[in-house]
Amino acid sequence: MNHLCRKAAAEIKAAGRIAALTGAGISVESGIPPFRGKGGLWETLDPMTYAHIDAFMKDPEKVWRVLLKGLKEVLDRAVPNAAHRGLAAIEQLGKKVCVITQNVDGLHQAAGSSDVIEFHGTFASNQCLACSRRYPSGQLELDVLPPRCSCGGILRPECVFFGEMISPDVLDRSRRCALQCDLMLVIGTSATVQPAAAMPFIAKNAGATIIEINPDRTPLTGDTSDYFIQGPAAEIFRTIMAELGRQ
Ligand code: NAD
Ligand code: ZN
Repeated sequence: MNHLCRKAAAEIKAAGRIAALTGAGISVESGIPPFRGKGGLWETLDPMTYAHIDAFMKDPEKVWRVLLKGLKEVLDRAVPNAAHRGLAAIEQLGKKVCVITQNVDGLHQAAGSSDVIEFHGTFASNQCLACSRRYPSGQLELDVLPPRCSCGGILRPECVFFGEMISPDVLDRSRRCALQCDLMLVIGTSATVQPAAAMPFIAKNAGATIIEINPDRTPLTGDTSDYFIQGPAAEIFRTIMAELGRQ
């Protein structure tokens, strides 16, 4: 692993523009469980029952009670780890770093990354289904579910549920970021949720080097990825950042 971290550090040093595609795995060491895989939320919850927009619209009280309230409590306690902080620190080396994250936890911004595309929206803000008024998550009362707007309308988090479209602006910016980078870091994503999973292919076809960091292999591994660094993201980033400091 160490020699791969040394190579990753050299690639980061050589690149002008860096893109990072991140998934739930980058936040696991911040205490947020992923959806898929070991310890993932889907081991106990069926995604189509709880994370599909049709399920939310049909029974918002149930989706808030079973999925959203608990997730929000976990996110409220979470702080960035060495991987989030490392990505932010690479900007301090004078690199342009664009982070495309599938996460809704806001941890890249909390770590100090300045260019973050929230591919699947955010849990930090909620919107009224009736009048579109917005409420920051910190203002939500969750004693009575679902939370409601002052107009009486039901509030939803501004994340993208299964069955919903990615906003064209987000897709556009992500594609541009993938097309323009010299190096893409793919960190903690199972690379199975489309269209986010297409970004490494776009980057690769445009000539970028792809470095993947994940404890488990993914459909990208050994094919689209030029390097696969196997292990937990925060631990690996500590080694990469130490290497960067030496080079
Ligand atoms: P996923 O749950 O499908 O996959 C998680 C990936 O992380 C897996 O490949 C797993 O091997 C890897 N992983 C596990 N521990 C890791 C670690 N310590 N370091 C690095 N990688 C690790 O997640 P996904 O691919 O992001 O896609 C599913 C959807 O789940 C996304 O849309 C995302 O919005 C949502 N989600 C977000 C959060 C969050 O905001 N933190 C949490 C759970 C799910
Ligand atoms: Zn309202």
